[in-house]
Amino acid sequence: MDAIKSKIRTIPDYPHEGIMFRDITTLLADARGFRKAVDELVQPHAGVRIDKVAGIEARGFILGGAVAHQLSVGFVPIRKQGKLPFDTAGQDYELEYGTDRVEIHVDAIEPGENVLLVDDLIATGGTMAAAVKLIRSIGGAVVGCSFVIDLPDLGGRKRLEDMGLTIQTLVSFEGE
Ligand code: AMP
Repeated sequence: MDAIKSKIRTIPDYPHEGIMFRDITTLLADARGFRKAVDELVQPHAGVRIDKVAGIEARGFILGGAVAHQLSVGFVPIRKQGKLPFDTAGQDYELEYGTDRVEIHVDAIEPGENVLLVDDLIATGGTMAAAVKLIRSIGGAVVGCSFVIDLPDLGGRKRLEDMGLTIQTLVSFEGE
């Protein structure tokens, strides 16, 4: 099996019954697996002007930090509501039940900077769509959205592609 996919652990019925939780901690703990995932995330962006990598809390920090380091650019955290200490911009988004909000420091991106967004997994695409709107609201240009895992049956990739975004995923799992 794929050297990355085989290192991802699946936990059935976590955090709710019916969810197959794709756990990347086993990939991150494996030196070769982690390196391969980061190398593959970086590879398409060689030769493209990227000014910042932004990662979504919390697993996007680990992957995004490594990608930023490899690209020799700065890293910017996108966090859940109330976690960032300085002035923030925010973006609400719909969950299955209720809403959530992502925030970024207002000065984290200079207007016109090219930003690569990174998260571990795309399901419905709601979280990433909110992150894209957030980056654009403070003047950044989103050059791509990169994920280790795609859950294609949940339609997130298509939703983001329909917003005109370039999506990169390394492995996919059928079902939810
Ligand atoms: P979505 O906004 O629906 O694309 O959900 C993506 C976010 O939820 C990511 O930050 C993932 O870490 C998390 N997530 C959603 N579904 C799963 C799953 N089956 N396994 C692990 N994480 C998930």
